[in-house]
Amino acid sequence: MHLILENPKNAKSDVMPFSRTNPFQAKVLKNNNLNGTGSSKETRHIELSLKGSGLSYVPGDALGIMPANDPELVASLLKEMEWNEEAVVTVGKQGEELPLKQALTTYFEITLLTKKILQQAAAFTENEGLQKLVLVENTAQLKEYCYGRDLLDMLRDFGPWKASAQEFVSLLRKMTPRLYSIASSIAANPDEVHLTIGAVRYTAHGRDRKGVCSVLCAERVQEGETLPVFVQANKHFHLPESQDQDIIMVGPGTGIAPFRSFIQERAVNKGAGRSWLFFGDQHAASDFLYQAELEKYQQDGVLTKLDTAFSRDGAQKVYVQHKILENSKELFEWLEKGAYFYVCGDKEHMAKDVNEALISVIEKEGSMTRDAAEVYLKDLQKQGRYQRDVY
Ligand SMILES: Cc1cc2nc3c(=O)[nH]c(=O)nc-3n(C[C@H](O)[C@H](O)[C@H](O)COP(=O)(O)OP(=O)(O)OC[C@H]3O[C@@H](n4cnc5c(N)ncnc54)[C@H](O)[C@@H]3O)c2cc1C
Repeated sequence: MHLILENPKNAKSDVMPFSRTNPFQAKVLKNNNLNGTGSSKETRHIELSLKGSGLSYVPGDALGIMPANDPELVASLLKEMEWNEEAVVTVGKQGEELPLKQALTTYFEITLLTKKILQQAAAFTENEGLQKLVLVENTAQLKEYCYGRDLLDMLRDFGPWKASAQEFVSLLRKMTPRLYSIASSIAANPDEVHLTIGAVRYTAHGRDRKGVCSVLCAERVQEGETLPVFVQANKHFHLPESQDQDIIMVGPGTGIAPFRSFIQERAVNKGAGRSWLFFGDQHAASDFLYQAELEKYQQDGVLTKLDTAFSRDGAQKVYVQHKILENSKELFEWLEKGAYFYVCGDKEHMAKDVNEALISVIEKEGSMTRDAAEVYLKDLQKQGRYQRDVY
């Protein structure tokens, strides 16, 4: 399968550098599940070829993927509305034209509902439920309706409709690329880029739902096929300039990705800097991503320390922040000697808990008040020694 983009600039790829608006069709060299039997997760390790693209990256950068929607979901939409898949629709501000099926597959977000879409769609139906939902006093209910539902739900819930496919697609948002922290070093893997992608799957309102890009990668992209990609530089998340600086990395789950890149880079460059990784996930037996590699790096001395937290292996839930607190004395010594502190992964909970743990470490080991510890951390941030890549 090749994900064909409707982007007209794609044709000029031999003269234009590859970019967000002109992605490179990268061949999938490897695509395997990192989780073992019994895991409740699926995390894909994907290796892509950048050969001939002229693209490069540094550890800390991200790769953008332009995804395509699930063909089954597109087929359900076409069937539900009895739309002709070949009917040509106008998309975008430049008036490009695409067959409807292709527009629904690659051009539009069809799994995302917004208040605006529902408000505008209300003009296309007399359905009382929708007319009521879009009233100003029902904003909270409208927001709640959108959560965990998609275009197909809306079409099924509020018909009969009196609008054309063109009028409906005009309401939709353009597909946005998904970003993934690069999990490889180009110095260690010339012409390649590796990713660590957690498949997003959940059930909501009686239907199984799939993340557009992560499940495309997990279920539909085979080795030998291609994905449209571009490199997204990340100036605020990178290794210290000197290989002799110590680094502390906190990357549970898919947060491990940029740190695999950091460690690979350090293995090639062989600086004097020490490196310490905190990794966590649910079960050691099935969710210890890149375990063999990491343990090998530890044996070889590339990785100085490796601390793990597996939340569902014991009676009590243990997370990376607990491991940070357990190691407070040594961690503070590293910071005092100039170590850089990095966090990658979950923004909602993990990054906040790690931030709190770090303040506690500084407070305790530096014999400071909380206010002074916060100033210490702010200062680390100013020096570029506290960097986060959270999502
Ligand atoms: C800088 C950066 C780096 C990143 N690096 C990585 C990485 O290395 N690895 C990685 O796996 N991801 C990474 N991500 C996240 C990634 O970009 C995508 O957001 C993720 O893969 C989901 O995309 P998707 O297309 O599969 O899902 P989408 O189709 O975009 O769906 C995701 C959305 O589904 C909704 N949703 C999810 N669960 C539920 C639920 N239970 N109930 C209701 N709604 C729900 C939420 O609105 C969520 O935003 C990164 C993000 C950023 C910004």
